[in-house]
Amino acid sequence: MTRATHRNIALVAHDNKKDDLIEWAQFNRGTLSRHNLVATGTTGRLLQEQVGLDVKRLHSGPLGGDMQLGAMISEGKVDFLVFFWDPLEPQPHDPDVRALLRIAVVYNTPTASNRATADFLISSPLFGADE
Ligand code: PGA
Repeated sequence: MTRATHRNIALVAHDNKKDDLIEWAQFNRGTLSRHNLVATGTTGRLLQEQVGLDVKRLHSGPLGGDMQLGAMISEGKVDFLVFFWDPLEPQPHDPDVRALLRIAVVYNTPTASNRATADFLISSPLFGADE
């Protein structure tokens, strides 16, 4: 018998990418609802309101949410990072965005920056595998 593994999944989307993330989360709602979800403020609110997911909400990204997630990664509290960042628009909190992406690499955290990669991550046999 297999044991269900609860993953800690962090979700973030910049404003121009929020529709993308919501659509992806709607499509994967069943899978996501079986795991522990954490998100930056506005992304988390949309996931709650539009997808109906149970999400722990941090501060909004520009107000420190990205840094909170970075700290969580460094503490081993994030198994997967889905971060749809915007390559076409400067962000006021660009240093925080870079820090979050950097710390995800430092801690070898699987990270998806677009839907194609998020699809690979969530459908990987490693996603639900026991530790
Ligand atoms: P938000 O933050 O979910 O609060 O919009 C995302 C970000 O800009 O990092």
